[in-house]
Amino acid sequence: GSTIGILGGGQLGRMLSVAAARLGFKTHIFEPGANPPAGHVADAVTTASYDDHGALLRFAKSCDVVTFEFENVPTAALDVIEAQVAIRPGREALRISQDRLTEKEFLQGLGLTVAPFADVPDAAAMQIAVDTIGAPAILKTRRFGYDGKGQARLRSADDAEQAVADMQGAPAVLEGFVEFSHEVSVIAARSPEGDVACFDPGENVHRDGILHSTTVPAKLSASQRMDAVLMAANILNALDYVGVLGVELFVTSQGLVVNEIAPRVHNSGHWTQNGCTVDQFEQHIRAITGWPLGDGSRHADVVMENLIGDDMDRVPELMKERDCALHLYGKSDTKPGRKMGHVNRIQRG
Ligand code: ATP
Ligand code: MG
Ligand code: MG
Repeated sequence: GSTIGILGGGQLGRMLSVAAARLGFKTHIFEPGANPPAGHVADAVTTASYDDHGALLRFAKSCDVVTFEFENVPTAALDVIEAQVAIRPGREALRISQDRLTEKEFLQGLGLTVAPFADVPDAAAMQIAVDTIGAPAILKTRRFGYDGKGQARLRSADDAEQAVADMQGAPAVLEGFVEFSHEVSVIAARSPEGDVACFDPGENVHRDGILHSTTVPAKLSASQRMDAVLMAANILNALDYVGVLGVELFVTSQGLVVNEIAPRVHNSGHWTQNGCTVDQFEQHIRAITGWPLGDGSRHADVVMENLIGDDMDRVPELMKERDCALHLYGKSDTKPGRKMGHVNRIQRG
């Protein structure tokens, strides 16, 4: 069978590898860190830095297509790979989602609503930004933020100085605080032919900036659900996207506001593993290998709960729980805030 290269060896790369193996593909993981969770289930692992262009080239030559589990792959590394083999999804989706400012401008350009935002390239720009956006607000680094890291909240304009200091000189964007009733996300897929398929939107609860749970079905009216799916399709088409993409949305009385997009399989799509015939991981593998998209219709109500840090102590209990599918990532060291696994609980009426 042909080989799928995956940049990044975390839990998303691991679950992509399992899905690929089930469809008869081989996988090759490229990951700078030692002992990656995906390494145990992949056919091959390259442990090397993204600066090691020789290793990247050998990796690329061993693959028939390359994908990624995280959006911060350095541009120079992508150049080396792309000279050899196709990267799916493509460069444009990466370029846009690597930078919050570019991403917000892109989404606005599609006619979608985003939080009010202002560019804060340096400390000097903060005063004008606060005057424009007001408070409460959130200052976020333009690049490399995840799980709420690289963010500082402003309860009032008085917090501006501290917030800027928290950025440690990194370029940032100031976002107006969106008064949302709840958060939802759409996990959507697009094939090379332009077919689009969306999973049912999930309702997300965050704790300390980290996703805690996703519930399907989400609290959405029929028209909100339609809006959410159309927004996702709009984004996929604009990017000529191939693969699975996550779109995070705030639900407000004024309609849906796009928070951010992730050009990859997404934590809030893990419920699909036990709620759909074809889950987000298989859907991504199908899309990037040119298979037809699969049947992602939902056959159960599901609550996904992340197991973070010490939540691992609950595993013996969870093992005995009825209608509870346990997914563990095989990470050896438990750290606070580290995603160790998740459970999908099937809800029976
Ligand atoms: P992820 O792990 O999802 O990539 P992240 O670090 O990129 O997280 P965001 O998704 O931007 O961070 O923000 C994390 C959470 O903080 C959001 O899901 C939401 O609950 C809250 N939040 C972010 N931006 C805003 C905003 N403008 N208004 C209100 N709440 C917000
Ligand atoms: Mg993010
Ligand atoms: Mg987010």
